[in-house]
Amino acid sequence: MCFKTEVPMKKLAVFGGTFNPIHNGHLHLVQGFQERLGIDRVMLIPSLVPPHKAAEDLANANDRLTMCRLAAQPHGLEVSDIELHRKGPSYTVDTLRQLHHAYPDTELYLLMGADMFLTLEQWREYKTLFRLARMCAVPRDENGKDELLWYAEKLNALGAKTHVEELPLLPISSTLVRERVKQSLPIADLVPKAVEDYIFQHHLYGGNSNG
Ligand code: ATP
Ligand code: MG
Repeated sequence: MCFKTEVPMKKLAVFGGTFNPIHNGHLHLVQGFQERLGIDRVMLIPSLVPPHKAAEDLANANDRLTMCRLAAQPHGLEVSDIELHRKGPSYTVDTLRQLHHAYPDTELYLLMGADMFLTLEQWREYKTLFRLARMCAVPRDENGKDELLWYAEKLNALGAKTHVEELPLLPISSTLVRERVKQSLPIADLVPKAVEDYIFQHHLYGGNSNG
């Protein structure tokens, strides 16, 4: 087992997503868990083909990766392209297996928002996933915490280690960012400046360079 508390292990938080684009809500989640769980390293992992949602309006992998790097750099977060090199859909269990082999003495924490957490039983090889990492979730709306705690109990009974954290909500989604770009509305409060510049310079999401 990889969860022996008596041995001080490094803590690596893995945060996967489409990141189409990465936004302040993502960074806020990461910072919240860093503070509360004493995480040593954070790895952002953009996915190639999202298994949990349709790929409509998806910027290409290189653009999403670059935007992750731009957002990560000032905060000392790492960005991994491992899912972009694998063929076919990105399954988190494969990613965690890879990381577990690369860093056997490291405790893995899988960070996610409520929408992803509540679907965990539908993820490929979820029981293996539960052995490889601790599932860490935050609510994405006002009433979300009770449902998360209830579901966490259910997952715990299946062998998962879960951690539900109540962070101040940031009602931001990539969908909102894309819609605002399409409508030529400002996104300065939603994404880091470097990401905003990148979106407009590369005409992503139907935007134009006038912002
Ligand atoms: P989209 O609207 O395209 O689905 P998204 O904002 O949900 O984008 P994703 O890349 O789908 O972003 O999500 C990556 C992870 O970040 C998921 O676990 C998701 O739940 C979480 N997440 C996204 N936005 C927030 C937010 N504002 N607060 C907390 N978690 C979030
Ligand atoms: Mg999403």
